[in-house]
Amino acid sequence: MRRVYFDHSATTPVRPEVAEEMQKFLTDNFGNPTSLHYFGRQTRKALEEAREKVAALIGAKPEEIIFNSGGTESDNMAIHGVAMLNKNRGNHIITSAIEHHAVLNTFKALGKQGFTVTILPVDKYGMVSLDDLANAITDKTTLISIMHASNEVGTIQPIKEMAALAKEKNIFFHTDAIQSMGKIPVNVDDLGVDLLSISGHKIYGPKGVGALYVRKGTRWRQSLFHGGAQERLRRAGTENVPGIIALGRACELAVEELGAEPTRLAGLRDKLIKSVLDNIAYTRLTGHPTKRLPNHASFCFEFIEGESMLLSLDMKGIAASSGSACTSGSLEPSHVLLAMGIPHELAHGSIRITLGRDNSEEDIDYFMEVMPPIVERLRAMSPLDQENEFVMESSCAACKASTSCHR
Ligand SMILES: *Cc1c(COP(=O)(O)O)cnc(C)c1O
Repeated sequence: MRRVYFDHSATTPVRPEVAEEMQKFLTDNFGNPTSLHYFGRQTRKALEEAREKVAALIGAKPEEIIFNSGGTESDNMAIHGVAMLNKNRGNHIITSAIEHHAVLNTFKALGKQGFTVTILPVDKYGMVSLDDLANAITDKTTLISIMHASNEVGTIQPIKEMAALAKEKNIFFHTDAIQSMGKIPVNVDDLGVDLLSISGHKIYGPKGVGALYVRKGTRWRQSLFHGGAQERLRRAGTENVPGIIALGRACELAVEELGAEPTRLAGLRDKLIKSVLDNIAYTRLTGHPTKRLPNHASFCFEFIEGESMLLSLDMKGIAASSGSACTSGSLEPSHVLLAMGIPHELAHGSIRITLGRDNSEEDIDYFMEVMPPIVERLRAMSPLDQENEFVMESSCAACKASTSCHR
């Protein structure tokens, strides 16, 4: 069967060039980078080269890069580290309603530990307002964390303007750039951020490895773990050498990709969005129409459950997603779509298509061949359909009237 992978925001395959490099550090170059002998020196050197490559992708200095176990740890490390060390200065921290759970749940945990947490709303495009941010800041605010680009709806936030506002008030600024890295230019000086999260498996590297950028001079409590002196006392534990080497290589390749690939992906994305909106009725785009990731398309199909669409697509060999990988599997609609004011019953019908290096125009054509009949069949079966056009404009009143929505 034809297989089309349309879920690059959930994870990406490891590029062959990356796997090849990684392989050497599993077998031949296996030394512990802390060891002083030949084997240790060999991996230490490779580790520092990888650090330079990661730093180069985001315009940082190598010593500002701390390797760890991935995006989740980076978000935890950044937020926890800044909030805790600056507690004597203030206990107010700010984030947005559309963050990844690695950020949102860290804020919630800190909320239970005596911090005052502000969660900023977003508009219908998933955009945080600069005015809302400015109004939320108090003299007790020590940290703002806003993601660069949304994994769920692809919206790109005005990080540069927000970070400038934070700097003016001496507040540390963290951004989760896991989805934007390698897809649009990400430069820490241009953005003006103090901390930035990176994950390997979203940029054609392996899972379980990532990095946190921390600007020199940032007041930040170091390692979350108690242990050895690795990463200059900032992250204890023997380094994941094969993973780090792979992350370095993936970043190096990502620099090259930033030339033509985003334009190619944006072409495919625009073709997909236009085809879906032109050919499938009662469908809307979610996220910002223009300020969005070049590989990201997301929709709500009315009168259908996202999960039924996913399963039908999967039977045709197409791998897509409904909301984030963390929320699919549960029947709650995505917190991101709800925060954007999308009604429950519509949020249930969400589909996310995220393109990558392996996708071509033929994949879009294949999707447009199989998707309309799937939608037609599911709508014919759907009890939501009986609500007809009324549902389109309604909010949760219609949702409550429909028996199939709240399960
Ligand atoms: C995937 C992802 C994470 C989590 O990264 P892991 O490496 O999977 O822990 C965090 N934030 C965003 C925006 C992501 O897309």
